[in-house]
Amino acid sequence: MRSFLLPIFLLSLFSLAAIAQTTPATESSKSAPQLDHFDAKKVDASVDPCTDFYQYACNRWVADNPVPADEVFWGSFGKLQLWNEAFVHQTVLEVAAKPAAERTPVEQKVGDYWTACTDEKQRNAAALTTLRPQLQRIDAMRNKSEIADILADLHRSVPGVYNAGNAGTNAALFGFGSQPDFHDTTHVIGQFDQGGMALPGREFYLNDDAKSVEIRTKYVVHITRIFELAGAAATQAKADAAVVLQMETAMAKVAMDIVKRRDPKNLDNEMSLDAVKKLTPTFDFSRYLQLLHAPATTTFIVTSPDFFRGAEQIIQGEPLDHWKAYLKWQLLAGMAPSMSDDFMNQDFTFFAQTLFGAKEIQPLWRRCIREEDRDIGQALGQAYVARAFSPESKARVQEMVNALKVVLGQELDSMDWMSPETKKEAHVKLAAQVDKIGYPDHWRDYSALEIRPDNHLANVERAAAFELDRQLRKIGKRLDRTEWGMTPPTVNAYEDPQTNTINFPAGILQPPFFDPTKDDSVNYAAAGAVIGHETIHGYDDQGRKYDANGNLRDWWSADDAKAYDKRGDCIADEYTEFVPEAGVQQNGRLTQGENTADNGGIHLALSALDADLKGKGQSLDTKGEDGVTALQRFFLSYANVWCSNLRPEVMRTLLLSDPHPLDKYRVNNVVSNMPEFAKAFGCHKGQAMVRENACRVW
Ligand SMILES: [Zn+2]
Repeated sequence: MRSFLLPIFLLSLFSLAAIAQTTPATESSKSAPQLDHFDAKKVDASVDPCTDFYQYACNRWVADNPVPADEVFWGSFGKLQLWNEAFVHQTVLEVAAKPAAERTPVEQKVGDYWTACTDEKQRNAAALTTLRPQLQRIDAMRNKSEIADILADLHRSVPGVYNAGNAGTNAALFGFGSQPDFHDTTHVIGQFDQGGMALPGREFYLNDDAKSVEIRTKYVVHITRIFELAGAAATQAKADAAVVLQMETAMAKVAMDIVKRRDPKNLDNEMSLDAVKKLTPTFDFSRYLQLLHAPATTTFIVTSPDFFRGAEQIIQGEPLDHWKAYLKWQLLAGMAPSMSDDFMNQDFTFFAQTLFGAKEIQPLWRRCIREEDRDIGQALGQAYVARAFSPESKARVQEMVNALKVVLGQELDSMDWMSPETKKEAHVKLAAQVDKIGYPDHWRDYSALEIRPDNHLANVERAAAFELDRQLRKIGKRLDRTEWGMTPPTVNAYEDPQTNTINFPAGILQPPFFDPTKDDSVNYAAAGAVIGHETIHGYDDQGRKYDANGNLRDWWSADDAKAYDKRGDCIADEYTEFVPEAGVQQNGRLTQGENTADNGGIHLALSALDADLKGKGQSLDTKGEDGVTALQRFFLSYANVWCSNLRPEVMRTLLLSDPHPLDKYRVNNVVSNMPEFAKAFGCHKGQAMVRENACRVW
């Protein structure tokens, strides 16, 4: 639940897909929803599409699809995610029911992980006992030099330390992982990232509006309860919870803010180990790296040196007892979702209910499928791909990707604000971009990971260590561009600027995104716009700073960069707007890359559709049997993907911490920038969906 932030360098379509919340709280796949299929007739005829296209296209969907009690948002993404999970669940049940002797090694892991995760009796009896030695070790610390030992232990056992999210990592104090060198991406080096905070970002500690204060008050109550569940007396638990908030707030104050982190130049600080040590002299980095099993290396990236300078003050300023409270909290907070019912329910109360607005906890089967996907996702994903993603689908999606690339090449040539020199570089980058569709060519080898049927928390800890080792083994090696950062059943997609790849898991290449039963106008608008979105990420305000090889290198002429920034400012300003339902402002600077990708991506998809239709002797004006033109179907299908219901709590949390704009803006802002939309629905100047100062980057 805490790890809802996606890796910072991977530019995804969507962040909510990773939140551990969704679905009908009944038994398994029997409750899986029907997938949405496009229906051009399903519009709200009482709304003028030129006034509010989102309402016109989505009102009926929104009325028919209230947010289930254990969901925080409900839209096409969530429905498909549930469908995928139910599908995977079915496979897992079959595997778990097989006699041990008949299982393959991969099936042993898939089946035994499931058996342990769903054994509530065992979890309730053993979870705290499993963590006891680690908690006792923290209690037994005699001086602050041992912080390095404890951190290494926590970072090896709590999932996700290497995962540099938008705001930083969720790991205790800081994160460590591997990352391609910013200036030579063929080589992978070690990376230290800011972290230490369990709330989704520094604003949650530093903002002083009434809602922020209320959330922090509830946070302290939550930490108190977790300490009590771990055996602390009430007064001690309360005092320790206050210490935790104080220390995390101190970390928030020295952390780099989320908008500044969007500029890779701000993260590009390469240092020797000696230089790293000078930032935080009191912390024993050599011992930490040795205990973490990190390979010896000479150069490191430090994403925010100021954070590590600040950490020195916090280590010196806070007494040993405060550090003990903080480290115990970090261990318990990281493991709570995988522990006994009391810890899990308490974790839900704050992280799902208070921060995201969920009403009910999800059923155990979904939480277990989600954790299994995180820990051994490429083992789970093999059966999903075999059953849910046909070679025909893969071939058709590949054709669409190719078609969009051709269009982007033509569009680059036609841009009147770019010089021939910059265009040439852009073409080189496009030609070098690698696309990956559905699933990896080679499945990950989990043979070194021990999965047993008797203790879930122990499986989670071993899987965390296995994944950390896998990440750290990359240090000193050549970059592997074929690696996948998402598992096959994931309903999402991403662009990675350092590998210069666009990646589309099989999980999103399903209805309503990719629907083999529907015509091209529907599929180009949904899957095509997703493909376009990720392609354009390579050229958004972040992506344009990387070259064809993924190196951070300025390949833009000064004039072209200036022209680009002017267009980028238009987009950023357009999305900066107060959102009354959430009580906070949408920050167009935070969402600039996603806005650019949405607006540019749909242009590519539409041009590719146009070319495709012309090749078949049809046009965008050709009407289907339902009397709706291909162009209208295109925009309706695009909007349908973003129809959703969101709780106010999740809106607020996302607006403060997520680089994606809210769904409504992903529809209305995009179409109101497009003359093609006005043409499709006969909109004219002065209407809301015809923007006077329309923005266009790509
Ligand atoms: Zn994106």
